[in-house]
Amino acid sequence: MSTKTFHEATIAIRGGRALDSHASSILFPLYQTGNFVHDEVGVDKGYSYSRVSNPTVDALEKAIAALEGTASAVSFRTGMAAITTLCFTLLRSGDHVILSDVVYGGTIRLFREVLDHLGIQGEFVDTSNPDKVEAAIQSATRLIFIETPGNPTLKITDIQTISRIARRRSILLAVDNTFLTPVLQRPFDLGADISILSTTKYIDGHNATVGGSIATHDEQLSERLRLIRKTLGTIQAPFEAWLTLQGLKTLPMRLRLHCAGALRIAQWLESHPAVKYVFYPGLPSFPQQALAAEQQRGAGGIVAFELKGGAEAARQTLNHLRLCSRAESLGGLETLVTHPSTTTHADLDPSLRQALGISDGLIRISVGLEDPEDLIADFNQAIAAAIAQPGAGEAKQ
Ligand code: PLP
Repeated sequence: MSTKTFHEATIAIRGGRALDSHASSILFPLYQTGNFVHDEVGVDKGYSYSRVSNPTVDALEKAIAALEGTASAVSFRTGMAAITTLCFTLLRSGDHVILSDVVYGGTIRLFREVLDHLGIQGEFVDTSNPDKVEAAIQSATRLIFIETPGNPTLKITDIQTISRIARRRSILLAVDNTFLTPVLQRPFDLGADISILSTTKYIDGHNATVGGSIATHDEQLSERLRLIRKTLGTIQAPFEAWLTLQGLKTLPMRLRLHCAGALRIAQWLESHPAVKYVFYPGLPSFPQQALAAEQQRGAGGIVAFELKGGAEAARQTLNHLRLCSRAESLGGLETLVTHPSTTTHADLDPSLRQALGISDGLIRISVGLEDPEDLIADFNQAIAAAIAQPGAGEAKQ
């Protein structure tokens, strides 16, 4: 089905979907199988082994491609499997890669613990400053890999400006679009070559699976990604693909609610006397609000804030939450709250954390779809209990 003329909600539910040819079931079937029978020697129905391809995984790829606006997409077992496969597909020993200084910790680890040993150098740069990107380019630079908004401070990189710099030097630009998805940010319209998603987050949206996706308009690159995926064994599993296909259908509707809830909570936090500052791209106080409004179709579902009582107040607030869950990850229906300096960013040198704006008192919220007033009531009681503790009040900031 061509989806060119449809609106986003229709594409999310119908885009790229083929009817099951066997029994016309409304949901595409789950082909939970490792292998497929050949009709005759050398004759099959397009499938032979699920490490290479699987009809349910193909169905997910077509649905994601419809949303991305690309001819195809490639699905992986996790977001990290997607990023790893991309790097093994594009990079050779001696290559240099520029990455946002705020990329996901697993991407940093991939470069430091694996690719560096193979002679591939990753350089972490403040990509929100295009001059720093220009200055970091070397003759060996093969790829610019940006994540925007960055985690957890939501620092924004101007995709269009960086894509112009990359294009002038014939360097590929990849955007990790996990935080916003193609519904809230369109990397290809802004000049990117590759869009990466951890489908674990908003695409699935139900905290039920882990998965990853890569989309590009370059069909040769997609084919090469499939070859390397087959070689590394990083393809998505059929059941995860099937679950993700169901979650994907409500993505545009969920994101509207995530954005509305996050704005409501960000505004409430900003007005709370115990709160030092709030990072949310939808707030007028956010330093890059204008760029966010121009580049994004919504401010997203992630909010970060610091209490005046610093690290101890953050610890106490997290420990006193009753409704929200203390958990890593993001993008699901349940509100998850993390303390980046002791979890997602614990591996980073403390001075680098400070330089990136990740203070020991910073709290990140992945705002779920519970009623925002219930979430606010939970934060209200948790902050009140926290600042009543010795060592967590304002005097100790
Ligand atoms: N990219 C971003 C922005 C992420 O937040 C994550 C995980 O948190 C990943 C990639 C890795 O995805 P996965 O956990 O599915 O491997």
